[in-house]
Amino acid sequence: EASNPNEPEFLQAVTEVAETVIPFIEKNEKYQNKMLLERMVEPERTILFRVPWVDDNGDIHVNKGYRVEFNSAIGPYKGGLRFHPSVNLSILKFLGFEQVFKNSLTTLPLGGGKGGSNFNPKGKSDNEIMNFCQSFMTELAKHIGPNTDVPAGDIGVGSREIGFMYGQYKRLRNEFTGVLTGKGLSYGGSLIRPEATGYGNVYFAKNMLETQGKSFKDKTVVLSGSGNVAQYAAQKTMQFGGKVVTFSDSSGFIYDAEGIDEEKLAFVMELKNEKRGRIKEYVEKYAAAEYYEGKRPWGVSCDIALPCATQNELNAEEAKTLVDNGCICVGEGANMPCTPEAIEVFQKAKILFSPGKASNAGGVATSGLEMSQNSLRLSWTEEKVDEKLHGIMNDIHAACVKYGKESDGYVDYVKGANIAGFVKVADAMMAQGVV
Ligand code: NDP
Repeated sequence: EASNPNEPEFLQAVTEVAETVIPFIEKNEKYQNKMLLERMVEPERTILFRVPWVDDNGDIHVNKGYRVEFNSAIGPYKGGLRFHPSVNLSILKFLGFEQVFKNSLTTLPLGGGKGGSNFNPKGKSDNEIMNFCQSFMTELAKHIGPNTDVPAGDIGVGSREIGFMYGQYKRLRNEFTGVLTGKGLSYGGSLIRPEATGYGNVYFAKNMLETQGKSFKDKTVVLSGSGNVAQYAAQKTMQFGGKVVTFSDSSGFIYDAEGIDEEKLAFVMELKNEKRGRIKEYVEKYAAAEYYEGKRPWGVSCDIALPCATQNELNAEEAKTLVDNGCICVGEGANMPCTPEAIEVFQKAKILFSPGKASNAGGVATSGLEMSQNSLRLSWTEEKVDEKLHGIMNDIHAACVKYGKESDGYVDYVKGANIAGFVKVADAMMAQGVV
């Protein structure tokens, strides 16, 4: 704590991993006295830079730019870029640290990193977004490359932003390589990448439910967020026969007791992705639905909860409400959406709970598949990528069960994901000497 002051999110993420990994190290001599965990909690490199840009009125703004290159033991640094006013070093270090374990779990050769800016994309014109992205990439390009560090999207960074940044990278380097993932289909993107995180989260939850002989069929599902992850988690839930009843954004949530169908989802996608509007506009179109300003959706009675918005968006009190209302399964689509106290509530109640580093790994896994396709200069079919994604989520689930199954049969997916992720990175670090 003393060496990382004012970094609460980072300390939260490290504590969660340490609590499960330290007992494992104590039982496994191989991993002792190598300063492994101490080395793992220190990023290999942290880059901080100035991002100056000009708005449509000709006024100049300055934002902070970051790239945390956390660990390259098993592959090039890989992880998203977040553009949000709340971005700071603590948040990016927490995300980069989580990413190391997540990427290890995917079974692909991907190291971990994360980056972004405190830039707020809300209300900006396309031209302003482009100016910002070009300035951001002008510095970032010096530090990344298809074999060094391969960023992707995250909150506030979707296909529009990736396109602008890719264009600028190409101008600066004069080379067409897979340096970013989440690209558009016409310039090296992969089919299923937009869907991957949300779909993967639902595949993982399906696996968890199956361990108890259950499924999504006719289950009521409450989810938060209305961005990339939430939209596709909703779509796959519907395909599996579940009933999605909520969406949210940072202003509030909507509750549609009739259930959100494909047509309503298409409306949400257009609203959030094209018009860049607010979720409350849903009730203007669908009058039977209700909007709750400034509230989160966890009070809505459900069987399954999928938090897909942001970190620490579900606390212990809300966790208790979910359990009291009969919720049997919580699958994290966002990174660290549940507080440690909320996770304790779920695990004490012995309900199914998956940490984001396991259940949202489908996004980065499919980014890994995008990198493979770029290197091969080939594009795989939708079926092929989805099948690989599904297979990877099954493998991650199996790894969590292997390391997380308790003597009473309950699977601690937090412990399972942390230990399974740790082992591969630790083995690689030990083999590479004191690095
Ligand atoms: P988007 O920007 O597409 O959507 C984010 C959603 O979360 C929006 O609905 C946004 O609402 C809401 N949100 C953001 N910040 C807050 C906040 N402080 N309080 C309440 N709501 C908030 O991002 P993604 O869907 O890509 O990412 C969502 C989560 O999933 C993040 O935790 C991200 O790290 C994680 N993730 C994403 C992956 C991906 O492939 N995209 C991969 C793995 C994890 P509003 O419109 O008001 O901003």
